[in-house]
Amino acid sequence: MINRDKFFIDGRWVKPAGSGTIDVHSPSTEEVLARIPQGNAADVDAAVSAARRAFDGWSSTPPAKRAEYVLKIHEGLKARAGEIADTISKEMGMPIKLSQRIQAGSPIAIFGLYAKMLGEFAFEERVGNSLVVREPIGVVAAITPWNYPLHQIALKVAPAIAAGCTVVLKPSEVAPLNAFLLAEVIEAAGLPAGVFNLVTGFGPVVGEAMVAHPQVDMVSFTGSTAAGKRVSEIASKTVKRVALELGGKSAAVVLDDADMAAAVKGVVTNCYLNSGQTCTAHTRMLVPESRYGEAAKIAAEVAKAFKVGDPMADGTTLGPLASAVQRERVVKYIKKGIEEGAELLAGGADRPAGMDKGYYVQPTVFGKVKPGSTIEQEEIFGPVLSIVTYKDEEDAIRIANGTPYGLAGGVWSTNEERAQKVARRLRTGQVDINGGPFNMLAPFGGYKQSGNGREAGKYGLEEFLEYKSMQFRPAPKAA
Ligand code: NAD
Repeated sequence: MINRDKFFIDGRWVKPAGSGTIDVHSPSTEEVLARIPQGNAADVDAAVSAARRAFDGWSSTPPAKRAEYVLKIHEGLKARAGEIADTISKEMGMPIKLSQRIQAGSPIAIFGLYAKMLGEFAFEERVGNSLVVREPIGVVAAITPWNYPLHQIALKVAPAIAAGCTVVLKPSEVAPLNAFLLAEVIEAAGLPAGVFNLVTGFGPVVGEAMVAHPQVDMVSFTGSTAAGKRVSEIASKTVKRVALELGGKSAAVVLDDADMAAAVKGVVTNCYLNSGQTCTAHTRMLVPESRYGEAAKIAAEVAKAFKVGDPMADGTTLGPLASAVQRERVVKYIKKGIEEGAELLAGGADRPAGMDKGYYVQPTVFGKVKPGSTIEQEEIFGPVLSIVTYKDEEDAIRIANGTPYGLAGGVWSTNEERAQKVARRLRTGQVDINGGPFNMLAPFGGYKQSGNGREAGKYGLEEFLEYKSMQFRPAPKAA
């Protein structure tokens, strides 16, 4: 049992103001794995004050010097990669092999990338008679979810501190242990006191106190659309900049000329990554009416081949969901799909055979899902794929764009030009063509109710910068 009883504030491990704690449960055994402090507004105030005090010094530290610290954090994380992957698999359930590559590999890469970018980024340019400079926005409140916990933290903390901002982080209370590891790495890297601060607790208490705090200049939030709306509302009172990375209901459009076997395998695998707990998951597969039978058969076969099991066991390809709440929610949606008359092609609402403990659900595929039905419109956040049929390309584009979300999508076709044409018409922040892999240098974020702003690459750094323009008139010549 891990017991974390301190916050990292002002470069030191300090006792929380209150005495409340939060239990962290193992998704595979349901047992209590760890205990963390339940912060309150006084803890937030201490962390924000430390970040405020550190801002002047850090923001005026030359970028090359800041890059040295970011690189040290990258190296510190790299040295603890195994422990990070292990911790995240245990707290949120991703199979260990995938966790090593994604949950540990990605944050390490992100810190490395921003260290390098600081050497290349143009913080100023001349525009006519103006000098336009990019300056750090100030104190950043970073609030993150549990599904790719350290990746989402890294996408905020690395560019924010690279930009010269100071940060208060509140990680998800569901998978918070990785954030403590990051704080230890940051402490060992010798980052000046107050540049990075960690407070844990519940969203409506710690999160809202951060968002409301008058000394916070920007909120960078990743999580559900419902919480994102609340964050925007509170932040508006002090006119903070708000960057939101929210939910999605992404569609993969399989065109009639696609290699159906490759496309379906690609979509199911995308949808089930991290047990379907991926904001960009392609959870709706749109196929031409004429090819439905073929697509349905392949999808069911691919789904049934997933091996559900203990995330730490060899050969597991689908771990449990992260929490009891999440399991309940996903099971409810599976029942809803059946109730709404969708064709159940694989899986279902019962526990996977032989798995009486743990937050497991069966890899599920629904066919003939009606556009506009609940499971076609709402984010499920579990391994549940909906196959929807379309009449022609226009119909496919209409269905793909027919939700309040606009995070991601895919197009499958043997004709790349045709695929690109369709991709341009999808109202989403990213589109993968024929399963194009994630690119950390490309902007990441959503249209519509999937959020505001972009993370990753140079776009992610720009999020944390303000513009200042200085206008010059030639100085009068001395007499
Ligand atoms: P969540 O909204 O419940 O929680 C996210 C974070 O916000 C947590 O730290 C939580 O404590 C905090 N929070 C909750 N209520 C808050 C409030 N009122 N004020 C301030 N903070 C609050 O989401 P979750 O269940 O942790 O994560 C799953 C959701 O995140 C899904 O909807 C998923 O699509 C989304 N997500 C989006 C992206 C993206 O980049 N677009 C990435 C990952 C996850």
